[in-house]
Amino acid sequence: MDYQKIIQDVYEKVQPFAKTGKQADYIPALAKVNPDQSGVCLKTLDLQQYSVGESKVRFSIQSISKVFSLAVALSCEGKNLWQRMGKEPSGNAFNSLVQLELEHGIPRNPFINAGAIVVADVLLSHLANPEEEFIDFVRNISESETVNYNFSVARSERSNGYLNAAIANLLKYHGNIKNDIEHVLQFYFLMCSIEMNCTELSNAFLRFADHRKEFNYCNVHLTSSQVKRINAIMQTCGFYDESGEFSYLVGLPGKSGVGGGICAIYPQRYAVTVFSPRLNAKGNSVVGMKFLELLTTETKESIF
Ligand code: GLU
Repeated sequence: MDYQKIIQDVYEKVQPFAKTGKQADYIPALAKVNPDQSGVCLKTLDLQQYSVGESKVRFSIQSISKVFSLAVALSCEGKNLWQRMGKEPSGNAFNSLVQLELEHGIPRNPFINAGAIVVADVLLSHLANPEEEFIDFVRNISESETVNYNFSVARSERSNGYLNAAIANLLKYHGNIKNDIEHVLQFYFLMCSIEMNCTELSNAFLRFADHRKEFNYCNVHLTSSQVKRINAIMQTCGFYDESGEFSYLVGLPGKSGVGGGICAIYPQRYAVTVFSPRLNAKGNSVVGMKFLELLTTETKESIF
């Protein structure tokens, strides 16, 4: 498969969509991002790497971090984690409060904000130095020592994070947050603020694509079955209330973030990351969705 040619062709085909949508502006620091950037990096299991556009420009990974935090939490808690959250698609917006109230503080899955806030709480309970240990893990799987948090993005989100604070309070009321709410929120926003480029993200997601191999990075140890299940949750819950649509159009497990990134994996074959900040109404990158739809159409490769 000539992936370089295919991704270049597809990249050109998605350019007519480049001005559609707008970047996330509910996080003040993200409203300032240049929306006219885009990049792609596809990396195969045999370590061939193919890139187009601004694949080395770092961006805010936001909810893509929820895959990394779930990996750490599963390594710490194993299946006990599922007593505190489900693994069903929510069919609701990523920051919805309604379902959480009806379901008595048990989030539908770890990839909506409520679930990821509980995951942040789990990490605070288990890790001696959560901030350092989490970033060390992300650096290790992305093969980049310079990946880091953006503390001013995290502060900017905290200063406007009324809805996430409401979610955290509701979780605490139902006994599903053990640590101090403020500490949990700050750690959650910090994980979302990590900046990475397409190449670093594809390196990291390649570990999940290679699910037959044991996952041992820093102190995070997962069995192949656990990695397979993280991939299953990406497939069913990775795109908020657009997860069904992504599955239908693209046919790969993946995870998006409101920073405009989307990572997807073709198990046992490749990891691919697309970045373009303009989002659709559901909070997913317009160009990213279209690019991945055309990629799996042109290659005729998907899990289906
Ligand atoms: N930090 C963002 C929030 O909590 C993440 C949302 C996302 O990327 O979906 O609202």
